[in-house]
Amino acid sequence: MKRRHFIKNASLTGIGLVASSAAMGCKDPSEEKIEKTVMKQTKTPSPIAICTWRFTEANATAGKALKAGKAALDAAIAGVEVEEENLKNTTVGKGGAPDREGNVTLDACVMNSDGNCGSVVYVATITKVAALARTVMEETPHVMLAGAGAEEFAYSQGFQKETLLTEASKEAWHAWLKTSEYKPIINIENHDTIGMLTLDHNGDIAGACSSSGLSYKMKGRVGDSPIIGSGLFVDNEIGGAVATGMGEEIIKTVGSFLIVELMRNGLSPQAACEEAVRRIVSKNEAYTDFQVAYIAMNKAGETGAYCIHEGFTMMKYQNDHNEAIAVDFYHKK
Ligand code: ASP
Repeated sequence: MKRRHFIKNASLTGIGLVASSAAMGCKDPSEEKIEKTVMKQTKTPSPIAICTWRFTEANATAGKALKAGKAALDAAIAGVEVEEENLKNTTVGKGGAPDREGNVTLDACVMNSDGNCGSVVYVATITKVAALARTVMEETPHVMLAGAGAEEFAYSQGFQKETLLTEASKEAWHAWLKTSEYKPIINIENHDTIGMLTLDHNGDIAGACSSSGLSYKMKGRVGDSPIIGSGLFVDNEIGGAVATGMGEEIIKTVGSFLIVELMRNGLSPQAACEEAVRRIVSKNEAYTDFQVAYIAMNKAGETGAYCIHEGFTMMKYQNDHNEAIAVDFYHKK
């Protein structure tokens, strides 16, 4: 890589630049100038929360928590919990749509700025699964717990056992049983998985992702949302990414990790999200039938988002302003 390009690519953190100067064992005056520029560019931006879909209250909750001085992961979990507890949301937490046998099973993961992560899959009795994923990260020697094991661990940690299938989601399931047609709908009710990225006062990034997965999935199916690198990835030197949509496609391309690695190589969050969507559509002609959407943020506080189909929204909270951003999309008819 040419030195000029390396500097450009390293400018997100400044760390790469300092390392390169040391490695080269020299320092000319132009480098000093560049270093100062990098320092200016890397001044910690004011806290930012972004999340998938139009989860206005969830994103505002995270943004306000950051403003109050909360650490990135605390804020992300506080934001995600708003939707986990929202019974009207049929794609996250309690009240989520069940699988085809009537079981609501939740998936979630979290990743912090130290590169630690926790995840739970196929949880049928706990609402606050992002907090549970964090507890797995902090209180066990493991990253991922599944099903009954995750639930038993949850009770031992003081989480309440709950019934996740509400009357409304039971009724919707009974209506679905009449045809039993499995055809995931693009942009279900305009809100699916909640994936959130937060950048706190210290400039640290963390993320959380929580979902009931695809409605009327097969019993036992797990999506991308609890898979570190697919539904969520954070590298505090670079930035983070989260995904929503057809989890199988996101897993096949390890979408969130891909985006962070593309940002590491110098792409903006926007360009990285676009490339990750391009990987999917270039390998799968059936993309006209499913949605995948990504959002990303880098250390400089730049954000980006891209999706396959029109209708995806990203929320962004910064400086007391919580904004819904209509996201550009690939499939222009
Ligand atoms: N990504 C989720 C899953 O595949 C679903 C979604 O976001 O719509 O489980």
